[in-house]
Amino acid sequence: MTTGYIWHELYGWSDTGSGGLFPADAGVGLQPISHHVAHPDTKRRIHELIVVSGLVDSLDRLTPRHATEAELLRVHTREHVDRIRHESTQAKGGDAGDGISPFGKGGYEIATLAAGGVIEMVDAVVSGKVDNGYALVHPCGHHAPSNTGMGFCMFNNGAVAVAHAREVMGVEKIAIIDWDVHHGNGAQAIFASDPSVLTVSVHQDRCFPPNSGFLTERGEGAGFGYNINAPLPPGTGDDGYLYAIDTVVVPALRAFAPDLIVIASGMDPNAMDPLARMLVTSRGFRAMTERVLAVANEVCEGKVVVVQEGGYSPLYVPFCALACVEALAGVESREDPYYVVVGGFGGKELQPHQKEAIDAAAALVAEI
Ligand code: ZN
Repeated sequence: MTTGYIWHELYGWSDTGSGGLFPADAGVGLQPISHHVAHPDTKRRIHELIVVSGLVDSLDRLTPRHATEAELLRVHTREHVDRIRHESTQAKGGDAGDGISPFGKGGYEIATLAAGGVIEMVDAVVSGKVDNGYALVHPCGHHAPSNTGMGFCMFNNGAVAVAHAREVMGVEKIAIIDWDVHHGNGAQAIFASDPSVLTVSVHQDRCFPPNSGFLTERGEGAGFGYNINAPLPPGTGDDGYLYAIDTVVVPALRAFAPDLIVIASGMDPNAMDPLARMLVTSRGFRAMTERVLAVANEVCEGKVVVVQEGGYSPLYVPFCALACVEALAGVESREDPYYVVVGGFGGKELQPHQKEAIDAAAALVAEI
């Protein structure tokens, strides 16, 4: 079995400016800080752990390329692409669209390398060059709908690659499983009326974007029923996430029987993340990956592409990502030294109110 892997040093050069979460603004008391919460160091630390642990020796490293304008335009509006490209030429760069997603000069080229990296990985998995793959790209993409960037996302890397798989490679049905702690609103919107793309988002209830990711968002027209949201209560841990995988994600994948599975993998449900309030450990991420891989072996010859999305604890995200890559490759390289702490957190067991929320999402699977 071979697992593809993509990282490029340029991803680590994304310039997220001097703000922390919102732009620095002395007038309202927002102090500048050396590391924006979405500073690419967290992703670079994933890559360096993958190298230092030796795991990289078990992976097939692929080289990313830039997505072309035509590839971006399959899912994004020309206005959005042109605006990002223009702001990228400015001395101080620009913002992806919501005022809290800064990028520096040359950010367009980094963003197209992220989208192109996922295209390259999808190509490799669909063509059988590798069995599955992990695209460690930055900036992330899953919040971006067609006409704007938001939530630190410039272009929707996963959606761009899915559109490529559909239109160029002739892949008929694709499932996007989004376990980033924030709602996968971008793909939900882009593929809302497309019954050939199933989108499932497991996320913290009303975390980001505000007022987004409800059970009632089901898709539109011919795509109705092909979007499932599983909003989970804050505090959900490994057991709750695995219950959601077992009762929502796996049955949805069996019912839909995709030809390719794309996981929008944010590591921000981790128990140490500053931008959410979940309790998932590296063991949880390993088990979630294994379970999706198992159903992939049933329905689509194991064709799984994992796309890096969020994750904001520089300390803990690398171990969660390492566990995910290890699961894909079927090897174990390094123990999680933080598990002695996060593994002991109280409340990680499935709670009744979490089960109730997950069961409500599971009921929607019958209509796929
Ligand atoms: Zn996120």
